[in-house]
Amino acid sequence: MTTIAFIGVGNMGGPMARNLLKARHLVRAFDLSAAALKPVTDAGASAAATALEAVKGADVVITMLPAGAHVRSVYLEGEGILAAAKKDALLIDCSTIDIDSARAVHVAAEKAGFDFLDAPVSGGVGGAEAGTLAFMCGGADKAFARAKPVLEKMGKRIVLAGGAGAGQAAKICNNMLLAISMIGTCEAFALGEKLGLEHQKLFDIMSAASGQSWSLTTYCPVPGPVPTAPSNRDYAGGFATALMLKDLKLSQAAAQSAGAATPLGAEAAQLYALFAAQGHGGMDFSGIIKMLRGEV
Ligand code: NAD
Repeated sequence: MTTIAFIGVGNMGGPMARNLLKARHLVRAFDLSAAALKPVTDAGASAAATALEAVKGADVVITMLPAGAHVRSVYLEGEGILAAAKKDALLIDCSTIDIDSARAVHVAAEKAGFDFLDAPVSGGVGGAEAGTLAFMCGGADKAFARAKPVLEKMGKRIVLAGGAGAGQAAKICNNMLLAISMIGTCEAFALGEKLGLEHQKLFDIMSAASGQSWSLTTYCPVPGPVPTAPSNRDYAGGFATALMLKDLKLSQAAAQSAGAATPLGAEAAQLYALFAAQGHGGMDFSGIIKMLRGEV
């Protein structure tokens, strides 16, 4: 039976750890928040008092933390994971973080002799609960081969994007495209409304024409055509604007350091920053149609 240390059991890490328990792994969880730990220990995990205690002797270490600073801190600072983990432990960071931090932790982990993978996810809290996340991985083939059977307990699509940091790179490229396509879809509906087009008619036409996209056919930003989309619940739940903004900022930082021109990505980051600053950081990101209509 594999012993897995799970550091960071919040909205995403919590249900991911519970799926590992369901797959009969032993899970030792650590989180700074007692409230986050409770549902995981209720499901059968043991609670560790520190990250160090969780990691000692574990076969696999998974981290699911808010940002690059937290990841650097738990792996690298003081008696961090790299100092405490078993020498043949597999280390997987599933957080969405900046590429520079991901690469820095990769380099340090490999120098210390560990197999390390960056493996950010898409699929949100629903995907974490259902065990249907997509994992975009970066690292060596050997680390990926070791991680795949573990990741399969939490997700459906597990893809190796390339070397160190490639998982983070793939994730922010995808989410930048998603933000741009969502804003475009919202603009098309807002224009259609002004021109007197019914939502359903415009949806039927665009979804069978060259304007088709995931933002339109799976996540339609107006209520009606796609009953499961957050637009039908006044944009509650789903993928929060604040999280989309985080990913857009990461994409813009990466574009700047790599020298890539991403003018629409930059514009999308500005529009989501404005929407979040108006107090809508918790609203699903498709709710930006309200701002484009001038409603909020
Ligand atoms: P969250 O805030 O719910 O969970 C993060 C957890 O980490 C918290 O419980 C916090 O107490 C804990 N934590 C922070 N610092 C710690 C430390 N030093 N040691 C131990 N625990 C610590 O966030 P989340 O929604 O679970 O997101 C986690 C990551 O997944 C983020 O990088 C996010 O961008 C990414 N992500 C989130 C979603 C989503 O829909 N929520 C989707 C895809 C990716």
